Amino acid sequence: MLAPYAARVEQSRGRRHPEPPHPYRSDYQRDRDRIIHSRAFRRLEHKTQVFTRRYSDHFRNRLTHTIEVAQISRTIAARLGLDVDLTETLALVHDIGHPPFGHAGEKALDACMRAHDSYFDHNLHALRIVEDFEIRYAAFRGLNLTFEVREGIIKHSHDYSAAEHPELAEYRLDERPPLEAQLIDLTDEIAYNTADLDDGFEAHILSLDAVRAGSPLFARLFEEVERHWPDAPDKLKFNETLKRVLDALVTDVIENTERRIQGADIWSPEDVRTHPERLAAFTPRVDAERKQIKKFLYEVLYYSDELRPEKIQAEEVVRELFNYWMEHPDALPASYQEQRERDPLYRIVCDYIAGMTDRFILGQYEEIFGKSDKPVFG
Ligand code: MG
Repeated sequence: MLAPYAARVEQSRGRRHPEPPHPYRSDYQRDRDRIIHSRAFRRLEHKTQVFTRRYSDHFRNRLTHTIEVAQISRTIAARLGLDVDLTETLALVHDIGHPPFGHAGEKALDACMRAHDSYFDHNLHALRIVEDFEIRYAAFRGLNLTFEVREGIIKHSHDYSAAEHPELAEYRLDERPPLEAQLIDLTDEIAYNTADLDDGFEAHILSLDAVRAGSPLFARLFEEVERHWPDAPDKLKFNETLKRVLDALVTDVIENTERRIQGADIWSPEDVRTHPERLAAFTPRVDAERKQIKKFLYEVLYYSDELRPEKIQAEEVVRELFNYWMEHPDALPASYQEQRERDPLYRIVCDYIAGMTDRFILGQYEEIFGKSDKPVFG
């Protein structure tokens, strides 16, 4: 049973190239399946989220992070009566435009592009992947996804101005995206805040005391766990607490979003689009607690001494390879040579690097510059 404000697949603004309907899969289900079967999706397995494989094979990579976002998103969408298929599709595609080496790789690639008065943006790159780079179908380039999925990619965690991005005008930048898309910003945060606490603790970079001091929400729920299981090992108390943190964040999004929908008198997908602000949201109190976790992770994990070697090497590898291909464009693969007629070289080199996995880019680095003396990624 869909809520009156849920996206309606039968009212989709459709695909760029019209296709006959499938006998038993909806258009959003087909979009989800197209994403799962894409090359860019498979490459997520070998892209860093926060930790490289140097630490452990147990930690999240971009693919397992993506699956966690999809799981949390489906739960919330189902509870709110939203279209679960569209929500899942948007979760599965949300990080598909990320370059290798996580945040460090993204920053390094952006810095390379800024030297050419341009920039790297993972949402815009994701749109290019699904529109142009995935070549699987005889009738068209790209995956020919429905409007709502392409719109969700563009309206993820960022508002583009219509004046700066006239090429995105078709996505109606003055409208809010459907609730299914609004959720993904929140579930992405819930997934990585909790997962990074988990992996950071497991990597012995974050101590139990530090997490309790850094996150009052965690500290409060930890007390509850201690009352239940005073003799449990710390690791299990940590897990039990983290589970409650995740649950508290998810429950807050569900309840608060429902309240906001009722308060704003929202009765249709059109009401969602024209409402002056996004309706999916944490309560201000829980949002403040979410921000505390995020701030803590930045200070104690993302910018920690332990993860610095990875960052430095990621920046070096991206920068040196970018410069190498700028100076030796003939060394680019044939498919990228073809692109030279329509795009400037720096854009082509950027696209090439952005698509790479950690493994592949390190292999390229070794092939061109010889074995690195800093085997951080070994
Ligand atoms: Mg993400």
